[in-house]
Amino acid sequence: MRTIGLIGGMSWESSAHYYRLINEEARRRLGGTHSAASVMVSVDFADIEALQHAGDWDALTERMITAARQVESGGAQLLVICTNTMHRMADAVQAAITIPLLHIADPVGRAIAGQGIGSVGLLGTAFTMEQPFLRDRLHDHFGLDVITPDADDRREIHRIIYDELVRGIIAAPSRDIYRAIIQRLADRGAQAIILGCTEIMLLVSQQDSPVPLFDTTTLHALAAVEAALAEGGA
Ligand code: GLU
Repeated sequence: MRTIGLIGGMSWESSAHYYRLINEEARRRLGGTHSAASVMVSVDFADIEALQHAGDWDALTERMITAARQVESGGAQLLVICTNTMHRMADAVQAAITIPLLHIADPVGRAIAGQGIGSVGLLGTAFTMEQPFLRDRLHDHFGLDVITPDADDRREIHRIIYDELVRGIIAAPSRDIYRAIIQRLADRGAQAIILGCTEIMLLVSQQDSPVPLFDTTTLHALAAVEAALAEGGA
């Protein structure tokens, strides 16, 4: 099994889940005392979040490239960036390293398209919902029509991510807000919903939605194990 490299800390609340999911999947597939060989570089999210809200994507790209190179020099043989938002600079990161980057949109798009679903709602940070980097990849590679919430709903989703979820706060009233937004997306024709921020799975589960949920954290982590087992042998 190849060594999985992770850039974590965005936030560590979800990176902890990546770590657990990857190791549980390695044990499920390999049995016994097997676990996943991995290297994680975990950043200080306060720095990242400040740069995001300042719109300094050049500095953020440099941060991700530095972290990716640290992961590669630590022995990783593939790279997982444990956040949707920071896939904005996925191409620049891939160009700066020699190991493959496993893009978060790919296992998600494959899973959705594989179920014959064509129209999907996207929940995530304002950056992910309003900028094209994830939406376009889902459309161009998997033929998915991506529906985003209206402006008020996007603001609420973003606020709850940054004021609560990345701080480890899981609040029932916020779950109700997400449930209502998911319902509105389903009413507008979304056949499924992408939990397109790696912390949303901490708040929302399938029982909160009338349509299937596709969680980026879980699908990305499982795909990492699949990729690590696919080449190089166990
Ligand atoms: N984890 C979140 C995501 O998947 C938000 C944190 C970040 O901005 O990186 O987008």
